[in-house]
Amino acid sequence: MCNVCNKGKVVYFRAYSGERLCSRCFTKTFEKRVAKTIAKYDMLRYNDRIAVAVSGGKDSLALLRVLAKIEAKFPESSMVAITVDEGISVYRDEAIKNAEDFISKMGNVEHVKVSFKELFGFTLDDVVRDGAVDRAGIKPCTVCGILRRRALDIAARQVGASVIATAHTLDDVVQTYLMNMFRGDIDKQPFGIRMELEGFVPRVAPFKLTPESEVVMYAYLHNVPFQSYTCPYARTSMRDMIRNFLTEYEENYPGTLYTALTSFEKLIKPSNVSLQKCEVCGVPTSRRICRACEILKHLNVREVPIQ
Ligand SMILES: [Zn+2]
Ligand SMILES: [Zn+2]
Repeated sequence: MCNVCNKGKVVYFRAYSGERLCSRCFTKTFEKRVAKTIAKYDMLRYNDRIAVAVSGGKDSLALLRVLAKIEAKFPESSMVAITVDEGISVYRDEAIKNAEDFISKMGNVEHVKVSFKELFGFTLDDVVRDGAVDRAGIKPCTVCGILRRRALDIAARQVGASVIATAHTLDDVVQTYLMNMFRGDIDKQPFGIRMELEGFVPRVAPFKLTPESEVVMYAYLHNVPFQSYTCPYARTSMRDMIRNFLTEYEENYPGTLYTALTSFEKLIKPSNVSLQKCEVCGVPTSRRICRACEILKHLNVREVPIQ
């Protein structure tokens, strides 16, 4: 029997708290934690126009579902799902179809799609296939990550969003903190916390206190589609090594991820790097030329649009 309602059939064992939960109680406590995370870090305001980054993966669709419920309580707010199509055939096509199907079932959610092709003039497949990525000595994942970020910023601005919400989970955030630490990069701002800086749309991560395993469960219980293809450009990375280590550690010592996150956030001392404007596109950056422009220059394609 469920520990909370003493009635429902148990579908989830929350190892770090020892609770056995039915579907209803799991969903309730899951959504409550997201709302608490938003309040704790002051992520959203009553009159925000929220751009939800929806890749079409299960995490992003789960986030969209939760945020739609929360946002509905605030009459002056609005929400728009943004999908960036980087042009990876089969893999991204499936994700976009999943996103479209799920969003159309939700009803009443605005969905905006932008593509690398229309913004930058090429698909990721194009620049991998013609050898431009290899010649530039950059990994496809780096190109993809940096340009996706830029594409999302451009789209968020186009739709007048005041904030971008991403589906990074507790696991993702702890992985990032560890990777930053191993690189000697601990002067970064805490992850997924609203920062109002001129020229930036702030980014928040409402799942940052929610373990990935619970997002998977939530997605499963609420008919969020799962992808069957994996990205053809994914290679074993440092992040995978760290993910495997953390997953095993969390299994043996439940609650570790959360403790690690709070410890890291006590240690992090953000330095106030002064930002200048990118010489090419004008966005605020700590470098002379921003990473997006640098990559586009290496790939020998036309300049990145600013807005
Ligand atoms: Zn229950
Ligand atoms: Zn630039």
